[in-house]
Amino acid sequence: MFSQIFLERALVDHPQVHHILKQFPSLPVNVIDHYDEVWGKFKKPYLLKRENLSLFLAQKKGQLIKLAPDAYGHGSEKHYYFIHAYNCIYECEYCYLQGYFSTPDLVVFLNHQEIISEMEMILKEEPNAWFHAGEFSDSLALSHLTGELSVYFNFFKSHPQAYLELRTKSVNIKALKALEPLQNVIVSFSLSPEYMARRVDRKTPSLSARLKAMAELSSLGFKLAIHLDPIIAVDDFESHYLDLFTQLAARNLLQNLAYVSIGVVRFTEEVMSEVKRNYPDSILHAQNFLKAQDNKIKYPAPYRKHVLNTVYELGLRAGLRRDQLYFCME
Ligand code: SF4
Repeated sequence: MFSQIFLERALVDHPQVHHILKQFPSLPVNVIDHYDEVWGKFKKPYLLKRENLSLFLAQKKGQLIKLAPDAYGHGSEKHYYFIHAYNCIYECEYCYLQGYFSTPDLVVFLNHQEIISEMEMILKEEPNAWFHAGEFSDSLALSHLTGELSVYFNFFKSHPQAYLELRTKSVNIKALKALEPLQNVIVSFSLSPEYMARRVDRKTPSLSARLKAMAELSSLGFKLAIHLDPIIAVDDFESHYLDLFTQLAARNLLQNLAYVSIGVVRFTEEVMSEVKRNYPDSILHAQNFLKAQDNKIKYPAPYRKHVLNTVYELGLRAGLRRDQLYFCME
């Protein structure tokens, strides 16, 4: 997966670093002072991640937790996301990371205690706040290496009024299964109907593998949620989403979901030009997008509303309650 490792000098004796390095005994390790002396210093084409991906082990400086935009999460509490990594091993064609950073190289941050200290400060003011992992990277894909889940579970066990969301497309649930499920820690899976997942969710586990992982976690007592986002409204999207809800119902996965978000695909101009360069044959280019007033490239508002309402109604018909459903980023 990786071609070399960059390690910050201050982390040389960190126990998690020893664990990670042991998994890659033949990789060259470059010791540096700070990751951003090297990471992203020169533009590296996104698709070079396929043959030349570096792993940076670092400490995040500056703001570790950020307030999430409106309509990011479920419910009326305050929502924050925290930054545990930059970039991702998967390759979804619509991923905004391809236009966000100047490099696809992966950074894993290991200063989780500092993130938790910031969470503690926020909870003094906002005791019911939500904290989301997975904004700049998948939250489970490397969790067997990075080892931070137990740190967060311990913290949220002692703060039962606050919430943690782990957003993922991964089926790497080994580290999770070793932990005691908590009702305030929600593992949320991003799902697309098989037709779309096979075309645009490159390198990710298949839909059936994700559903299997969800069923396993559910049977162990983990609290789950789903993101139906981004919806790509191909001509017969309704039948594909009906099929997806049927598969979820067949596995008894709908009734206990904490929430289901529904959102349509959207891009900044930078990301769209990367999508054109990286995936010129993508089904995304057959879509009728417009540049909206907020400068985002997305479906025209009436069609967006139609798509969102169609999937919302399908969810209700499949047995979801209204209070489980929300529109994301609308
Ligand atoms: S799983 Fe998420 S972060 Fe990773 S490539 Fe796909 S959209 Fe991007």
